Amino acid sequence: MTATPIFNFSAGPAVLPREVLQQAASEMLDWHGSGMSVMEMSHRGPEFISIYKQAVADLRELLNVPPNYKILFQQGGGLGQNAIVPLNLAGRRAQPATIDFVHTGSWSGKSLKEAARYANVNVAASAKDNGFTAVPPQASWKLTQDAAYLHICTNETIDGVEYNFVPEVSADVPIVADMSSHILSRVIDVSRYGVIFAGAQKNIGPAGLTLVIVREDLLEHALPICPSAFHWKTVAEHESMYNTPPTYAIYIAGLVFDWLKRQGGVAAMEQRNIEKARLLYEALDADDFYQNRVAKEYRSRMNVPFYLRDESLNEQFLAGAKARGLLQLKGHKSVGGMRASIYNAMPIEGVQALVDYLNEFAGR
Ligand SMILES: *Cc1c(COP(=O)(O)O)cnc(C)c1O
Repeated sequence: MTATPIFNFSAGPAVLPREVLQQAASEMLDWHGSGMSVMEMSHRGPEFISIYKQAVADLRELLNVPPNYKILFQQGGGLGQNAIVPLNLAGRRAQPATIDFVHTGSWSGKSLKEAARYANVNVAASAKDNGFTAVPPQASWKLTQDAAYLHICTNETIDGVEYNFVPEVSADVPIVADMSSHILSRVIDVSRYGVIFAGAQKNIGPAGLTLVIVREDLLEHALPICPSAFHWKTVAEHESMYNTPPTYAIYIAGLVFDWLKRQGGVAAMEQRNIEKARLLYEALDADDFYQNRVAKEYRSRMNVPFYLRDESLNEQFLAGAKARGLLQLKGHKSVGGMRASIYNAMPIEGVQALVDYLNEFAGR
């Protein structure tokens, strides 16, 4: 064991609650007296079915998921859903359908590029011209009357831009939200969305699991070419076991859901996340030694990109951080600079340690 605590600011795969890792370690060889590791269990056996059912029930409770929504556990990640979503929803309209996108950063950009293989893409608004530093105001969006759906990325992990509103759309155009990097970090009204998806490796659990929450009436519109294993209706009818689901990742996600409940649920996490983000942005804004370029009202509570005014100090900054146990602060290669991801599992002590280091490095 090291004397200095380690704080991991990775954007994903990312920090997990210590208690969850400890519990998983203690159950690794023998889950609840079954004589088996969860990794060794049949996904159709009573042991794993109980793990699966508990995870779904806990997630439903945490996010207050209405009864007319299915919770699916898939594989393929967020990028997989960029194809899986249009394959499942483009059939809502005569072909070729049109899909509306709001381009707020790297991830929504990837999503609209992939969707263009299956449908017409309308970029209703783009923040590209301002360097992805804000969500374009909804009044400026040029939405399509009969779009198959509207796709938004509610937290841009690389650009550090987070929605602070739910778009108003016509009742017949469902909103599809990529919530990969902030799901479970704040209270949401699931009923305002048609589909919510999230790769698990940011705020849920290990890589390899993708969560999809989909309104039941949206299960009926897949294109004929949609692969069976990615057909939401088929997956829903088989309780996410049409093919073998990522069983161990579901188990860890279940432990995280249980941990979240013990923390007081999503509303309590949100309060802590507000406080953590406030502390960190305050240190970055103290003078012009550091810089975060995102408009204040759209700054992400989960992913905080920042630059040193003097970028020649970058390597020194990272080396000093590492020496203090502050890990993985290097920014995404596409934008450079630094990034601190402060997901649910990052304790406030970790943010405080980073703030202390920011102040020290700036010579305050
Ligand atoms: C990480 C991320 C993805 C991509 O997830 P993969 O699992 O790597 O496919 C998609 N969208 C957002 C918002 C992300 O943060």
